[in-house]
Order: sequence, then structure tokens, then C-alpha cells
Amino acid sequence: MSAPFQHLFGIAQLSREQIEHLVQLGESFIELSRRPVKKAPTLRGKTVINLFFENSTRTRTSFEIAGKRLSADVINISASTSATKKGETLLDTGETLAAMQPHVLVIRHSISGACEFLADFLPDTSIVNAGDGAHEHPTQVLTDLLTLQTKAGGVSGKTMTIVGDIAHSRVARSHLLAAKKLDYKVRLVAPKTLLPRGIEQFGCEVFHNFDAAIPGSDVLYMLRMQSERLTSNCCFPSIREYHEAYGLNAARLAKAGDDCLVMHPGPMNRGVEIASEVADSARSHILDQVEHGVAIRMAVLTELCGSSPQPQARSKRRKQAEAAMQAQGKLL
Ligand code: ASP
Repeated sequence: MSAPFQHLFGIAQLSREQIEHLVQLGESFIELSRRPVKKAPTLRGKTVINLFFENSTRTRTSFEIAGKRLSADVINISASTSATKKGETLLDTGETLAAMQPHVLVIRHSISGACEFLADFLPDTSIVNAGDGAHEHPTQVLTDLLTLQTKAGGVSGKTMTIVGDIAHSRVARSHLLAAKKLDYKVRLVAPKTLLPRGIEQFGCEVFHNFDAAIPGSDVLYMLRMQSERLTSNCCFPSIREYHEAYGLNAARLAKAGDDCLVMHPGPMNRGVEIASEVADSARSHILDQVEHGVAIRMAVLTELCGSSPQPQARSKRRKQAEAAMQAQGKLL
């Protein structure tokens, strides 16, 4: 039996048992989405708010579909239509939404740690990290683990080779954390300019030559260049050269074992990190990942809606918030 938790900030907080429990619960939800009538009463009477300050197709839509298929009331707010455009702070937006008594607030934000920051002040609401800066993206990694569970019989003992913009990838970071807990190996492949300094401390192998990393890989996990997080375009000479050195095409894939899976968290940039001939091939599990993303988000919402936060006095929360904002120079 895995311990319950109120928030999902990242893979870092989860035990092996909790990760395995969420993946197992996710697996049990796959079938619901394949039924002609895709509805279960599990979250009836629960309210989920999706608050997205960064663009998203898969994550936002899958949280929405997951909540609706489980009968929750789901509200979507994007930064472009929220009052943050009128100068409201993240904390005030969070407190405003929390005052409407949702059970779960799903947040995507460009600042690492934004979810933990808000959670300190919204003790009655469960918060889910749907991607915070280059920090963590826990539900993507749980999704990938579910795909590996169903398509490769699990992840333990496998070697996942993650290729591309590691420096700015919250997905790569969450996989590095998960790998330690679930006993899989991670190989990182990138030019030096796209690798964070000291990454070896995670216990992973680092390659600058993609071809050298392919033999022995069970998964080739391709990453998009995070152009929204690049501070300059000096990380590689040109898109063509990047594709030649780090793109996955059919010739490269032929060097992998027959059972090697191709994965990508999306959105793909065809012709950059992945060629269409690979993305659309039978080896690609990218659309399986999308399908499993809905099931995992059902699992996460079910888990969090079952937790019972301890209410605190609002004035106390406000005082804490003000002190923290002063300390942070009203950063958020
Ligand atoms: N969808 C993933 C994320 O939000 C990967 C990406 O955007 O490249 O981090």
C-alpha cells in the first residue's frame, strides 16, 4: 500500500511504491477511454482547475479529458486570458482560485518551484505540477513509465537514451530522478552546449556522439529544442547540422536492437530531432504516450482527490504569504 500525498510537485517527492502505484492505477484506467461511453463517476462533485502560464496541447487537454471522463467539473484558464495580464501576482491568482474551493489546481509555469511556492499558501487545495520551468514534469514521466509497462513489460533493468536539449528539459530531469528509484539506466546524448554542468552527479552516462550511444539502448527518447528557454541561439551551428549529429532517422534507428522503442514527449519538430520516417514508423510509441497521458492523469487526479488537506486559518496563510513575498522581492 503506497502512502497518500496531497500534492504532486515532482518525481523527487515520490517513493518507488508511490510511482508503481500510480502507474498501476493508470493502467487500470486505459480501458475507460476505449469504451464507447467514456464516463465513470469516480470524481463526481470534485472541481479541477487547469491554470496554464505556458503553452500546452497534450498536458492541458489530457488533464481536462481525464477529469471529465471521471465526472469532475474541469475549468481551464490560460495565462493569456487570466488577470496576470492585468498585473496580478501568481500568489493572488492562486488565492483567488483557491477561494472558489477547487479540489485540485493543475499548474504549468515557466518558473521552477512555482507549484511548491503556491502550495505553501493554499493548504486546502491539492496542487499538481504540469511542468515548472526546466525543473520537473512528473506526469510526463509517469506517462512514459506506463507506456514502457504496457509495451516493454516495465522499465527495470532497461537503458533509456535521452537525446537533445537536456539542459532545458524538465522531462529529462524527472527521468533522471525516476531512474534511480526504479532501477533503469539513463544515457544522455547532447552537444556540450545543451548539457547542464555536473549532470554526471545523477549517475548517468554522457555521450556527445549519438551513434556511440545507440547499441544497447532499449529506448531512444528524443527531445525538442526548448527554444522558449534558450537565452541565445549559439547552442549548435544550424538546424541541418543539429539534425545530422543528433536527429533520429531511419539509418540511425537501424543501428538499434529490434526491440528498441522510440519515444518523444511532444511536441515534435520533424526534421530536427526526429525524421518523419521514424516518427511515423511502427517503432514509434509517441501516440501511445499520448493515450497513456490521459490514463495517468486520471490516476493522479483520483489519488489527489482522495487526500484530505488540513485547513488553516486564512489570516495566518495571508501573513505567511506576505512574509514570503517580501523575502523573495515579490518575485512571483
Ligand atoms: N511537453 C514537454 C514539456 O512540457 C516537452 C516539450 O515541451 O518539449 O516539457
